[in-house]
Amino acid sequence: MQRYFITAEQFGDSDIRLLGEDAHHALRVMRTKPGDKFIVSDGQARTALVAVREAAAEGITADIIEMLPMDSEPNWSVTIAQSLPKGDKMELVIQKGTEIGAYAFVPFESERMIVQYDGKKEAKRLERWSKIAKEAAEQSHRSRIPSIQALHSWRELMKSVDTYDLALFCYEREGDAAHGKGVRTAVREWALQSGAIDSPSILLIVGSEGGFTEREASEAEAAGAVLVGLGKRILRTETAGIVGLTCLLYESGEMGGA
Ligand code: SAM
Repeated sequence: MQRYFITAEQFGDSDIRLLGEDAHHALRVMRTKPGDKFIVSDGQARTALVAVREAAAEGITADIIEMLPMDSEPNWSVTIAQSLPKGDKMELVIQKGTEIGAYAFVPFESERMIVQYDGKKEAKRLERWSKIAKEAAEQSHRSRIPSIQALHSWRELMKSVDTYDLALFCYEREGDAAHGKGVRTAVREWALQSGAIDSPSILLIVGSEGGFTEREASEAEAAGAVLVGLGKRILRTETAGIVGLTCLLYESGEMGGA
């Protein structure tokens, strides 16, 4: 069933308003007419099944039939910090990360980043990424849309490490589990040290196509991040965050089944 994220203001006590692009999509693509049903969420506290009462170009009014549980969010809030990759790879990270259950995304700059950062494109890029996150959240029936933070400098990212319950620095040098920690070991050691936290916030740091320098790895460790490997193969930058996120949510028991 089609889903739309709407603002709290569009959520009434007994009905909702669908406006703008969403109303256009409902009318033109879904051919929505009175009586049709869809699901809306404010992305924070309310998700509801609604039935269309009025469908017009300036907007759709739908009556709330029943409030639905908001139970599609993982208990572990995993934020993917992705060193800015080339081309549209960030869009792939955002789309797949959202489907799998990422909590947020933090693009950041690192020494071996290949793409030349152009501040003039920042606003446009953030708008495109937010649209991708919203569409992926609707498609995957998420109860909230993962946030996309502004581009962080390396310094800003390092300063943020201790605001998380756990920070994992994906370091391909640690890729061979024989030499370094795998995600599972890192998480279990942390859980032992910190005592199992119900809904931990976890930062997963991924390098760009050029990888990380030794200096960045030691600075990340000094900031409190744990260096982890993702297996003995070298993953593409756009693959690594998705694999790390999946490993973490699997470890938390979120990926289906007990
Ligand atoms: N240095 C890599 C090489 O030798 O080709 C290039 C970096 S890799 C394409 C991009 C990023 O993905 C790395 O900086 C790291 O964060 C992550 N990554 C890729 N494979 C990994 C692995 N086996 N273990 C841990 N992190 C990995």
